Amino acid sequence: MHEFSLATGMIEAACEEARAVGASRISSITCRVGILRQIDPELMCTAFEMVAAGTPCEAAELKIVTMPVRLACPGCGHHFDAYGYEWGCPTCGADATCLEGGDELELISLDVEEHDETALAGGGVR
Ligand SMILES: [Zn+2]
Repeated sequence: MHEFSLATGMIEAACEEARAVGASRISSITCRVGILRQIDPELMCTAFEMVAAGTPCEAAELKIVTMPVRLACPGCGHHFDAYGYEWGCPTCGADATCLEGGDELELISLDVEEHDETALAGGGVR
C-alpha cells in the first residue's frame, strides 16, 4: 500500500506549490509515474482522495501518466522504450542496456483556482 505515502507526498508538494502562487484550491494534479513504481492507479486515486480530504487538494482530480521503461544501449547508442521483460537492444541485440527512465514519480502540472471562494450564502428570498 505504498500508494498512500506517495499520495501524501504528492499532496504536500501540490499544496506547497499552490501556496507559493497564492491559490486557494487545486482543481487538478497531473503526475508522471514510471511503470517500475508498480502503482495501481485505482488504488492511487483512492489514496489520493482520502489523503486530500481537508486540504486545498480536496476537490482536485488526479491524473496519472504512466511512463514506460526507457532504455539506452551503450553499444550502439539506441534509445528505446521497453515493454514487459524484453530489455535487449532491438537494433544491435545487446543485452546490457542502461535504464534511463521508468522509475520516476513527479508532479508535472497543477491547475489551481486563484480566487478565494466567496460564500454566496444569505440574501435568500423570505
Ligand atoms: Zn544496441
